[in-house]
Amino acid sequence: MFLHSYKITHTLPCLADPMKIRVIADVSEEIQEVFPYLNAVLKGCIYNHPANTLTIRKDQKLITLHAVHITLAKIEDEKEAEEILSWLRDLINETYEKREQIEPNYSMAAELKALDIFKLLPGTSCKKCGELTCLAFAVKLVGRDIEIKKCDPLFSEKYQEKRKVLFELLHAAGYDVPNVFLDS
Ligand code: SF4
Repeated sequence: MFLHSYKITHTLPCLADPMKIRVIADVSEEIQEVFPYLNAVLKGCIYNHPANTLTIRKDQKLITLHAVHITLAKIEDEKEAEEILSWLRDLINETYEKREQIEPNYSMAAELKALDIFKLLPGTSCKKCGELTCLAFAVKLVGRDIEIKKCDPLFSEKYQEKRKVLFELLHAAGYDVPNVFLDS
């Protein structure tokens, strides 16, 4: 067996949805070797090879695999986290077992969708960024035609939670997000 076990180490309020939780679990083995194979078999992954992360979206949940830990966002409770982690462990093991029949995919793949970005913007269409609507801004951002820092309202305290999730998503997709923003 490639991955034997996992252990939940942190249960925190979810940054994207205060009614839900964010869970961090350590894994018993380093799992990054399986990322390019998972990236090949799963739809909608974002594989950041240099950063060694693989982000999976499953039923509105955001799951990010790192070499030695996994983070789950928008989770109902620990029971749901356990179910997802158990599913992930099986998926990782099955994929690893079949790896010789899978062509590994090292590309970033899963293009970030403008709508995914739009949902994490303030949504006020205030035009401060020079665009008529937040959706227009999201379309330009996904095409790398505008920088995230142009959305001034996003940097207010009110949008701290959305900002954090958005920056994680952008970072995972290989967009340039300064570390100072990731920590904010
Ligand atoms: S500045 Fe931000 S909130 Fe205002 S329209 Fe642009 S993207 Fe939307």
